[in-house]
Amino acid sequence: MEVYDVMIIGGGPAGLSAGLYASRSRLRTLLIEKDRTGGQVNTTEDLENYPGIMDGIKASQLMERMTEQAKNFGTAFIKDKVTDIIPEGNIKVVKGEKGDYRGKTVIIATGATPRMLGVKGEKEFTGKGVSYCATCDANFFVDLDVAVVGGGDSAIEEALYLTKFAEKVYVIHRRDRLRATGSLQERAKRNNKIHFILNTVVSEIKGDGIVEKITIRNKKTGEEKDLKIDGVFIFVGTQPISDFVKDVIKTDDEGYIITDEFMMTSMEGVFAAGDVRKKFLRQVITAAAEGAIAATAAEKYINGELKTEKREVS
Ligand code: NAP
Repeated sequence: MEVYDVMIIGGGPAGLSAGLYASRSRLRTLLIEKDRTGGQVNTTEDLENYPGIMDGIKASQLMERMTEQAKNFGTAFIKDKVTDIIPEGNIKVVKGEKGDYRGKTVIIATGATPRMLGVKGEKEFTGKGVSYCATCDANFFVDLDVAVVGGGDSAIEEALYLTKFAEKVYVIHRRDRLRATGSLQERAKRNNKIHFILNTVVSEIKGDGIVEKITIRNKKTGEEKDLKIDGVFIFVGTQPISDFVKDVIKTDDEGYIITDEFMMTSMEGVFAAGDVRKKFLRQVITAAAEGAIAATAAEKYINGELKTEKREVS
């Protein structure tokens, strides 16, 4: 069986950038992705904060280009869902549902997935008015009223996108201040289709087969009322996709993988990059940068040039 130099798990910006850097360094590189490449970014319409990328290129197009670039340098791609990483001497065995893969190093770039709100009706109405992706589902709500739950970058960016389709977009946020970056907030405040409902939480999603209304509660006054809407878009943060290694690799309480400055995890020769990693800023640019660092560090590790004696994570 072929022994790769670098096995990358996940084909979002972190994994694709790691693939580009590793294969450009002439390392035998395999990228394992369970779905199509691009990751969470595919659910975003436009990218306005990736340096040098301006109007005219969609987020998913940038991901296609990154995929092409990694392929051109020699990264091999395979579709599989990874279930485990097992060290075997100096080799790591990555176990997938379709087969096992062997290599000297592994880069975990599995990213994160939307967090559920956890209220009554949410599961029941998912796909029937409850959505976690405006780009995927906005066109079902042309001239209808929708609610967006959350106050971060995702919530405000997606609320703005939804205004291209919906009649009214209520942004329901649990505090009196949004978390989203200033320029997004300004655009949302200027948009007359967006109506902010602050200090408020959603306590139930109701309907008959499809979503018809939500119950909202003002946290300051305690007042509870129903709001008639046709759809609910939930953007209350993300959770890391790290379950498959949670027993063998160190994570924080939320499951984000802890690494040192070389992106190496608590398991020697196994690196992590992108949204799955415990860090301050989760953006395409930081994911891509970490992919590059992880691939370069993996090369040094293979050559015995990476100082691991002062490892901060073990
Ligand atoms: P986030 O920044 O963690 O924001 C989550 C939002 O949901 C917060 O406003 C939070 O409220 C709220 N929330 C969390 N749990 C809740 C609950 N149980 N009930 C009600 N509200 C709840 O997550 P995100 O917006 O998905 O962004 C994730 C990361 O990706 C961030 O680092 C973000 O900067 C990045 N991102 C960047 C861009 C961009 O640059 N264009 C776009 C999208 C995402 P509090 O504010 O009260 O905590």
